[in-house]
Amino acid sequence: MCLFQLITIKRTITMTYKVSEKRYDNRMDYAYCGKSGLQLPKISLGLWHNFGEFDDFDNATKMIRYAFDNGITHFDLANGYGPGPGAAELTFGKILKNDLAAYRDEMIISTKAGYKMWDGPYQDGGSRKYLMSSLDQSLKRMGLDYVDIFYSHRYDPNTPIEETMQALCDMVKQGKALYVGISNYPVEATRKALWLLCENKVPCLIYQGKYNMLVKDHEYGLFGVLNESKIGYIAFSPLAQGLLTDKYLKGIPKNSRAANPHGFLQKEDVTQVAIEKAIKLNDIARNRGQKLSEMAISWVLSNPSVTSALVGASSVNQLKESINAIKNTQFGEEERWIINEIIY
Ligand code: NDP
Repeated sequence: MCLFQLITIKRTITMTYKVSEKRYDNRMDYAYCGKSGLQLPKISLGLWHNFGEFDDFDNATKMIRYAFDNGITHFDLANGYGPGPGAAELTFGKILKNDLAAYRDEMIISTKAGYKMWDGPYQDGGSRKYLMSSLDQSLKRMGLDYVDIFYSHRYDPNTPIEETMQALCDMVKQGKALYVGISNYPVEATRKALWLLCENKVPCLIYQGKYNMLVKDHEYGLFGVLNESKIGYIAFSPLAQGLLTDKYLKGIPKNSRAANPHGFLQKEDVTQVAIEKAIKLNDIARNRGQKLSEMAISWVLSNPSVTSALVGASSVNQLKESINAIKNTQFGEEERWIINEIIY
C-alpha cells in the first residue's frame, strides 16, 4: 500500500466519526457539583499526559471519542499540559474541531494556570497579568470562546489572594469562563478564597485536589471546609498515576508512565511500600469482582465529598476500565476495615 493510500484511509477514519446516540443511556452517572446547578460525570478525563506533541494523535482522538460516547462530558486541561507547554490544548482543540464542534454545549471543558508557562516576570503564579494572559492563550489554542471552568492551579504566596480571586471573578464577568475553581490550595488559603469569591458573587464551583488510596491528606481538614460551604471536589490522580493498577505489580513495564522520561511518575516513585500495598489491594479487588484500577476509583467515589474522579489514560482500554468503576462504589464494613488496615 502506498503512502497516499495510507493517508487517505487515516483521513477517512477521522472523517467518518459519528457520536454515539446512546451516550447518555445509563453509561455514566452524574452528580451535582456542590451546591451548584452543574452536574459532572462521576468519571472525568484529564489530558495531562498522552495528548502532547510526542503522543499519537490517533490514539488521543480515539480516547476523546470513547469518553464522549460513554457519557464523559468533562475534559480537564491546563495551560502547560504537554509536552511541550500548550500542546495538549492544541491537540484537544484539533479533536474538538474535527469531531465534536457541534457538541460544545454538551461538554464541560476546564483549564488552569499557575505554573511556569513562558519566560519573564509574568510566567507563573497568581497575578492578574499572568492569569488573564494565560486564559486568553488557552482559548486561542483550543479554539474556544469560553471555558466552562477556569482554575487557579496553585496558591501563590507572593500575590495577594484578593488579586487572584478578583482576576477569577473578572474572567466570569468577561464571559471567558462560566465557573471558577481552585486547585492545590492549602486549607487556610482555601477558606479565604471561598469567602472572597462569595463576596464577589462568583462562588467557587469546585476544588481540584490529589486524592487516592495512597494520598489521603485532604481527609484531614480540607474536605470539612469544602463540605461546610458545599463546594464540589474533583479528585485528580485517583490511580496514583498507575500505581493503583496491576501495571507495576511485577516491575516497571516499558510502555508505562514510570518508564517514560517525559512522565511525572519516575522510577524511584515506584517504591516497594507502594507495590506491597498494591499487591494486597489487588487481592481485595479480585474478591469484589473488580480490577485494582476499578476498585481504586470506586473507593475515591465512595467518599461523599468527592463529586468526580479525574482519571488519565493512555489507551481506550484503560478508560473503559475506569468507567467500569462506577458499577460498584459500595464497600461493606468488613471490606473497609481490611482496606483501612492496608492504606492507613
Ligand atoms: P491517574 O491516577 O488516573 O493515572 C493515569 C495513568 O495511569 C494512565 O495514564 C496510565 O499510565 C495508568 N493507567 C490508567 N488506567 C490504567 C489501567 N486500567 N491499567 C494500567 N494502568 C492504567 O491520573 P493522572 O495522574 O493522569 O491525572 C489525571 C488528571 O488529573 C490529569 O490528566 C489532569 O487533568 C489532572 N491533574 C491535575 C493536577 C493539578 O495539579 N490540579 C495534577 C495532576 C493531574 P500509563 O501511561 O503507564 O499507561
